Amino acid sequence: MLRGMPTNNNVDTDSTTDHAAQTVTRLRATFDTGRTKPLSWRRQQLHALRQMLAEHQDVFADALYTDLGKSATESHVMEIGFLIKEIDHTLRHLDRWTRPSKVSVPLVLAPARAWTVREPLGTVLIISPWNYPLNLALAPLVGALAAGNCVILKPSEVAPATSAALAHWLPRFLDPQAVAVVEGGVPETTALLEQRFDHIFYTGNGTVGRIVMAAAARHLTPVTLELGGKSPAVVEPGADLATAARRIVWAKFMNAGQTCVAPDYVLAVGQAGVDIESHLTAAIREMYGTDPARSADYGNIINERHFDRLAGLLNDGRTVVGGDHDRPTRYIAPTVLADVDPDSAVMRDEIFGPILPIVRVPDLDAAIAFISGRDKPLALYAFTPSKRSKQRLIAETSSGGLVFGVPTAQLGVPGLPFGGVGESGMGQYHGAHSLDTFSNIKSVLDKRLTPDTMGVTYPPYTRRKDRI
Ligand code: NAD
Repeated sequence: MLRGMPTNNNVDTDSTTDHAAQTVTRLRATFDTGRTKPLSWRRQQLHALRQMLAEHQDVFADALYTDLGKSATESHVMEIGFLIKEIDHTLRHLDRWTRPSKVSVPLVLAPARAWTVREPLGTVLIISPWNYPLNLALAPLVGALAAGNCVILKPSEVAPATSAALAHWLPRFLDPQAVAVVEGGVPETTALLEQRFDHIFYTGNGTVGRIVMAAAARHLTPVTLELGGKSPAVVEPGADLATAARRIVWAKFMNAGQTCVAPDYVLAVGQAGVDIESHLTAAIREMYGTDPARSADYGNIINERHFDRLAGLLNDGRTVVGGDHDRPTRYIAPTVLADVDPDSAVMRDEIFGPILPIVRVPDLDAAIAFISGRDKPLALYAFTPSKRSKQRLIAETSSGGLVFGVPTAQLGVPGLPFGGVGESGMGQYHGAHSLDTFSNIKSVLDKRLTPDTMGVTYPPYTRRKDRI
């Protein structure tokens, strides 16, 4: 374990690489024994993970508070509670998901049987980010264990308290021969990426996503990339704007806007762009009071680098509400900006903070053109009373997910796959989709040797055989 190791250029590269190589070798040896394959082992690991979360929820909630100022309620709903539900859902359906699945055989090959089986991939690497540092480390781990793999987990060094809690507690609950936590930053991750894995599951930004994919290509290792981007919230006139505003504010400002699926900006059609301003202001006051700095339910920005980046965006439009900020406490008030130029900095990259620009377009055609002219979003949200608008958005836009009426709630539906498309990522997970991600779906065909019904397909090829 690399706990406490410096994560700067002074790191001893040789020992970091050696440690990564040794850890992978150790886990591969475990996998080769077949120990992780039985469903009984997988179930036991999932129960142990659940027990760790249930028994030490206060420890993890404290770590999340230390890293992100997350309220206890938000930690329980979005991280610990979410994970417990994911584990329960997986345990409930694991037998069914792992059962061989029969496939019909064409007549020409009969009599024969065909089916698929899911087999674990081997030793997999999970690299997770800081914004939901528990959820995004352990939700993929649930899938990897359920599929019977050995796992190296690399939590984010940007959320050090949560990373340390994971490094401390996971080996005490999970099979230490099959699961390892490697803490650290770029040098440690780079050393890990030099090793050969059977799958790499990365959550974070697209720049590092490219580094991960390039490293994986050297070993022809498949990757899942859970990335980010600008997720729009389309608002049409005629929608219940008060409710839409409350739901946008709830989803945008939880975790101080540092949520990959948060609505990044409001794309308002016609008059809705003007009318929604007062509703957004009212919703912010309702949820966080007139001085959100005093709200126990409002978080802070992860570090000074992100604070400075966000503070630089606050003047990219007319301030409807918010704008206050304080560097020592890394506080940025929930902020709504109107009259925003689509080419301004706040509209260029993912905001990933508590700033909500409103961009106005004349009609749905323009909204669809606006979305389609940019990178495919991780999520597209829309508030509209019109069935036809919904159908058009489904048919004419592309995104990882499309949600009407309640942003971020797609994560609460365990049967829905979660993932991006294009710049927002590749591959999907959650529930049965995690099992698919971390398994090889192997085709099996079994045809008896006698009687030999294949005779008609063997050479010499006569005219009669051509017609078969
Ligand atoms: P981060 O800085 O914690 O980085 C993510 C991981 O990459 C960390 O474990 C880090 O150690 C590692 N890393 C950083 N630089 C590296 C390098 N040069 N080489 C190898 N590894 C390196 O998190 P982040 O990227 O700032 O996370 C925020 C981004 O992640 C946002 O874009 C957000 O939208 C996205 N995100 C996506 C999802 C999703 O599920 N799709 C979820 C959360 C966050």
